[in-house]
Amino acid sequence: MNDKKVTLKRRGFLKAAGATVATVALMSKTSEASNEKNKKFGFYIDVDKCYGCMSCVVACAEENHVPLNSFRTKVRRQVEDKGKVIFVPIQCNHCENPPCVKPCPVNATYKGPDGLVVIDDNVCIGCGKCVKACPYNARFLDPIRGIANKCSFCDHRIYSGKLPACVEACPTTAKIFGDLNADGEVSKSIKAIKTSVRNPEFKTKPKIFFKSLPKKI
Ligand code: SF4
Ligand code: SF4
Ligand code: SF4
Repeated sequence: MNDKKVTLKRRGFLKAAGATVATVALMSKTSEASNEKNKKFGFYIDVDKCYGCMSCVVACAEENHVPLNSFRTKVRRQVEDKGKVIFVPIQCNHCENPPCVKPCPVNATYKGPDGLVVIDDNVCIGCGKCVKACPYNARFLDPIRGIANKCSFCDHRIYSGKLPACVEACPTTAKIFGDLNADGEVSKSIKAIKTSVRNPEFKTKPKIFFKSLPKKI
């Protein structure tokens, strides 16, 4: 079974974890779920370090088989005052209050115990309601598979001890990924450095924290 299938299987279980099935398998899976409950994944992105090389976009597309002309992540180029050019990598924020979840008529998209906002490819019917509901325009309808698609925080990689593909590919360490509940580089950076999130007025509580994010992007 490939990583993706394993992840989907695990996700399917986590979604149904409230159900009562008294088996040994359930007990071991339950302990897995409770471990995930302690986690809260997020990013710290230093806009000052991004120089728009697009390595993250390419690595993401390759890793996640993103169709041509569709994107799970983009790098916005912006000209600031006095002609300064900045680059802002953007992707799904895995919001704590995700407005994309409720409109789904078949519960194909949901927030997992680890806070990741997941799409279950086997359940999605491609109605596009979640795509319209995301105020960040972070989702798209996959033109090949006919279902919703977006950044997954590379969940198939992180649970096997790897970093998200975009993080690994970044030559300047502009993107750092980790568990916000752990005492790691991401949480330490967020505590030590002034950060902001995209469009806080949406009240979605994004889990991607930027250093030097311009007011408007
Ligand atoms: S950024 Fe959009 S797609 Fe991602 S969790 Fe937030 S509302 Fe949902
Ligand atoms: S496109 Fe899929 S995930 Fe999105 S609302 Fe429709 S069924 Fe749910
Ligand atoms: S975390 Fe994974 S899916 Fe999300 S932008 Fe990075 S490479 Fe793409």
